[in-house]
Amino acid sequence: MSTLEIRNLQVTVETESGTKEILRGVDLTVKSGETHAIMGPNGSGKSTLAYSIAGHPKYTVTGGTVTLDGEDVLAMSVDERARAGLFLAMQYPVEVPGVTVSNFLRTAKTAIDGEAPKLRTWVKDVKAAMGDLRMDSAFAERNVNEGFSGGEKKRHEILQMELLKPKVAILDETDSGLDVDALRIVSEGVNRVKDGTDVGVLLITHYTRILRYIKPDFVHVFVDGRIVEEGGPELADRLESEGYDRYVGASA
Ligand code: ADP
Ligand code: MG
Ligand code: MG
Repeated sequence: MSTLEIRNLQVTVETESGTKEILRGVDLTVKSGETHAIMGPNGSGKSTLAYSIAGHPKYTVTGGTVTLDGEDVLAMSVDERARAGLFLAMQYPVEVPGVTVSNFLRTAKTAIDGEAPKLRTWVKDVKAAMGDLRMDSAFAERNVNEGFSGGEKKRHEILQMELLKPKVAILDETDSGLDVDALRIVSEGVNRVKDGTDVGVLLITHYTRILRYIKPDFVHVFVDGRIVEEGGPELADRLESEGYDRYVGASA
């Protein structure tokens, strides 16, 4: 049983025109087995929330706390966050020259578990997960993210999630740029991890369509750097029909 707890998180970023306040007091608790959807308009700070939890150096935490099972996540290095059980696909470099998917996954698994996976079961696990995601086995020998299509990047993300078995996974715009078939395959992958493990999922999205495949237990509406409304899955249906207009400008 794990708990990611975000309390009054405030984050700024340096821009050319000065320091910009982006997160303005975010409160959120994600427990094992729960799926939370964060939904909001473009530019509201959703990715900033993900990057801040990931430890991206561009984002400065000016207030609040993030803990995983009581441990101070904000005091951890990016590697330590992964080892603690946080999965944040965006923490990895866009391209990793000369490193194959296969080696990358094995290195990540070894770093997180503190020991190398047993070769025979590992090869079997990778094959099975790739098969489930309808990935050609040749993909394992490609260099990470080099020339990956949008869909391949997303599948690679979910492949990592399946193999690394995180306590809490944060998926930012996993649905963007996917056609309906790819969206279904990627969503099924997330659901397999949800069924097979006790992962807590934080699903960040602008559109409601992925929520037809991955059912959230809680929906949070995110506007202007904070959560302005919370509810169950029915809230996503309302957002689908009404959009975000009623919230915008109402959070100041
Ligand atoms: P969302 O993911 O909800 O679309 P973002 O977190 O990407 O929102 O961005 C929130 C706001 O912060 C936007 O106005 C964006 O331009 C700004 N912002 C985010 N990251 C940076 C950055 N690295 N440099 C400058 N501005 C940024
Ligand atoms: Mg974003
Ligand atoms: Mg489960």
